[in-house]
Amino acid sequence: MKAAILNEMGRSRPYANSKPLVVEEVDLDPPGPGELLVKIKATGLCHSDLSVINGDRPRPMPMILGHEAAGEVVECGPGISDLKPDDQVVMAFVPSCGSCLPCMEGRPALCEPGARANGAGTLLSGARRLQFHKKPINHHIGVSGYAEYAVVSRRSAIKVDASLPAHEAALFGCAVLTGVGAVVNTAKVPAGCSVAVVGLGGVGLSAVMAANLVGAAEIIAIDTVQEKLEVASRLGATRTVKAGPDAIKEVRDLTEGGVDFALEMASSVPALQLAFDITRRGGTTVTASLPHPDHRFFFPAVVLAAEERILKGSYLGSCVPVRDIPRYISLYQRGKLPVDKLLSEIVSLEELNEAFDRLADARSIRQVMTFY
Ligand SMILES: [Zn+2]
Ligand SMILES: [Zn+2]
Repeated sequence: MKAAILNEMGRSRPYANSKPLVVEEVDLDPPGPGELLVKIKATGLCHSDLSVINGDRPRPMPMILGHEAAGEVVECGPGISDLKPDDQVVMAFVPSCGSCLPCMEGRPALCEPGARANGAGTLLSGARRLQFHKKPINHHIGVSGYAEYAVVSRRSAIKVDASLPAHEAALFGCAVLTGVGAVVNTAKVPAGCSVAVVGLGGVGLSAVMAANLVGAAEIIAIDTVQEKLEVASRLGATRTVKAGPDAIKEVRDLTEGGVDFALEMASSVPALQLAFDITRRGGTTVTASLPHPDHRFFFPAVVLAAEERILKGSYLGSCVPVRDIPRYISLYQRGKLPVDKLLSEIVSLEELNEAFDRLADARSIRQVMTFY
């Protein structure tokens, strides 16, 4: 099958010239016990893919990236009886074993065997099913969707409505799950509160939509790019603020001291700093960022107690994918979450390098690679 291989992290920009992703003919083993062979239909381009390409999120090489994917089941490995060929599945980028402590506590995003497999570049079983010239290739967080086919753990796949176009279905696997989940599950924003969202990519705009859905009274969208602020306004932001030196004062003035919930979705420490600084006394700052492991975040420790401030991380939107992906799809189908508005460009497997330049330059919202 055709697949885009990343051989090396940290190539120079533009990627259109340095070509970190190379399309090759790759071998794929059949699915083992508890695994599925999926024909990939659509895979989004996410900041976390870019973070592997640029080296912010170091992973074993070589690797086939792409984790926001939707496709059709082709073959079920031994032991799978609840899926059949032609079922449409969306991949969740943390496989959940179902039996470790976080899984049993209802926090599958923190699955321990899942995190170990993702870090090692294997499937949940520990296997690598991908080879190039007989040498194993690493899986990207259990998915590797920049390929015509993928073998994935059953525990990475969520069955969804087959009538949903795959390029829309794919978005529910990362952008929507992460952004909506951060509002609904991590922050648990009550109706009538004030919310700020810093960083308006696919995840941030999903959070804007969710804040609108749950009835936030004030939704302040913050980004450096004017066009993204305009998209946020169309998706329910009540005000927009250009990120920059004046942003803190501007938001504090607008909200009499800060927002109840500030959500940081730009994947950078300065953005987290901004989100923290615009959170009001007693408020909550949520971050879905995955900056480089060496980066540090500093704040006056006294504010945690003296202002009863809460700082929370949100991974996979604190979601239970098997519960939340079908829920969010149903909200989309009822017109409550206009997820299709996130789509900016449809690209081919061969156009990924140029498309990652657009993502790195913040010139797009959510691009999706499709095979149709
Ligand atoms: Zn992602
Ligand atoms: Zn687990």
